[in-house]
Amino acid sequence: MKSFIHNLLAPSRISCLACGKEISESVRGYPEICIGCYSSIPWITKSRCNICGRHVGCPDCSRKDMAPRHFLMNRSAVAYNTVMKEWLAQYKFRGNEAYQPLMARMMAEAMKRMLYELSLRGGNKKFRFDAVVPVPISEERMSERCFNQTRSLAFGAASISKASVLEILHRRQHTEKQSFKSRRERLESMMGVYTPSSDAQHCLISIMQKPVKQGRFHSLFENQKLTQNAPIRLLIIDDVYTTGSTVDACAATLQMLCKSIGATPEIYSLTWARS
Ligand SMILES: [Zn+2]
Ligand SMILES: [Zn+2]
Repeated sequence: MKSFIHNLLAPSRISCLACGKEISESVRGYPEICIGCYSSIPWITKSRCNICGRHVGCPDCSRKDMAPRHFLMNRSAVAYNTVMKEWLAQYKFRGNEAYQPLMARMMAEAMKRMLYELSLRGGNKKFRFDAVVPVPISEERMSERCFNQTRSLAFGAASISKASVLEILHRRQHTEKQSFKSRRERLESMMGVYTPSSDAQHCLISIMQKPVKQGRFHSLFENQKLTQNAPIRLLIIDDVYTTGSTVDACAATLQMLCKSIGATPEIYSLTWARS
């Protein structure tokens, strides 16, 4: 009886999601992992490449023969090292859902950093995205995995901003394995894979019409954003940025979509990892 009560009163021992060791000291905001695993997260706090957000020297963005990109910049939460590869594999391929809140929180942290950087760039003017758009997966993949991991990453990123999550892209066909292709082949094969969903135009127009709070009053005329030609700022969310071909293909579709409703697009991207 004594040991039963003792067990009830004693704090439950939680083992670390990542390494399995018992958590002796918890990290604020990250209850699932131990302090050792938390300190091994390779956060990208400073990008060496302003465009693609790479943490190491970047030959890609300075290439002269590079086709113009459809997005302004990418930022990523972490470097895609062996440990992060394992985390993503656990979540994405082995369906370990316990990783979902952890990774969503990491996205929120990266989003905070990105908004801060963009606000600084804009002369300390508060920067906000109009919407967050997750990269979709094909229906075939969806039926295999039963979930789209980028969707929860998108909600994680959106959680600290006022942007809505808009699932306005559709993945047309399942493309063959990308890993054996050259960078250029990869970029070319991705174009046309992402199409706007049937309600995409309607969704975009409605977020532009959303009343925005100004002091104590709701300005109902904020939809003038469209007529004033203010840009629509969209943030694409994906799990890993490798060559940028997925993000660029999605950005190209979003650009077309914005233009089709008479809006000026400003497309950014945020991924969980940068390889
Ligand atoms: Zn651990
Ligand atoms: Zn770059």
